[in-house]
Amino acid sequence: MGAMKNVFSIDLEEWFCVYNFDGAIPREQWETRESRVEQATLAILDLLSKHNVQGTFFVLGWVAERHPDLIREVERRGHEIASHGYYHRLITKMTPEEFRTDLNRSLEILTRLASAPVRGFRAPSFSVTRKTRWSLDILRDCGIRYDSSMFPIGFHPDYGVPDARLEPHALPEGLWELPMSVAEVAGKRVPCSGGGYFRQFPYAVTRHLMRTCNAQGRAVMFYLHPWEVDPGQPRVALPFVKRIRHYNNLDKTLPRLERMLNDFEFTSVRSLYGANWAA
Ligand SMILES: [Zn+2]
Repeated sequence: MGAMKNVFSIDLEEWFCVYNFDGAIPREQWETRESRVEQATLAILDLLSKHNVQGTFFVLGWVAERHPDLIREVERRGHEIASHGYYHRLITKMTPEEFRTDLNRSLEILTRLASAPVRGFRAPSFSVTRKTRWSLDILRDCGIRYDSSMFPIGFHPDYGVPDARLEPHALPEGLWELPMSVAEVAGKRVPCSGGGYFRQFPYAVTRHLMRTCNAQGRAVMFYLHPWEVDPGQPRVALPFVKRIRHYNNLDKTLPRLERMLNDFEFTSVRSLYGANWAA
């Protein structure tokens, strides 16, 4: 009576790397900000170890360069290392050449730290959209076998592919797409993938949506950022909506995560889907 396996993933980045802070903390200032990624990631790693879950970590190259021991620790605990780009730039804001350079820079660093080939990619802010479809050819050319960046929704101002398929599928570009999860409720697509949705919705709502997704035959692609379990992070002045989106329920995330790990089965992309692109 095995329950359906879902994917547990982390977008491994610093609290100040998020797109929300693009205006407030430009890249030139990243180096001067307090690093909090190690303690937050270790809290997540310990929770995963306790529940014997191995997941996939989409690591930002800029962070890996500064915290190689942290990435080695992620690796040592059996998690899969994948790429989240180097500088956390949205693909929608890059030229193809800029994207290729950014991706390769991240892969050079991650390949040195990971024991297995780096096969996965997740774009900052899910920025593989209809307009940036060209990025898939570049991903494939750089050795990436799966992308996990498409959010099959139409209501978010910054991302989404409204008519994208909901289940993992092979793309004509020659790699796999593992879309972010939505449950279909009364004909509507409701995100149940983690991140901000996980923090804003009461846990019972998340659990219901995840169960619905599983009942509809799809594994959930769950994601979270280390800063989402770090209530002590420095506060940045933000407009109201962004402030709520970023700071709401940070103190509740870790206990909620524990409940979720008790209620559902999780594993990495590599172990759930890797047979599809094994060389
Ligand atoms: Zn990110």
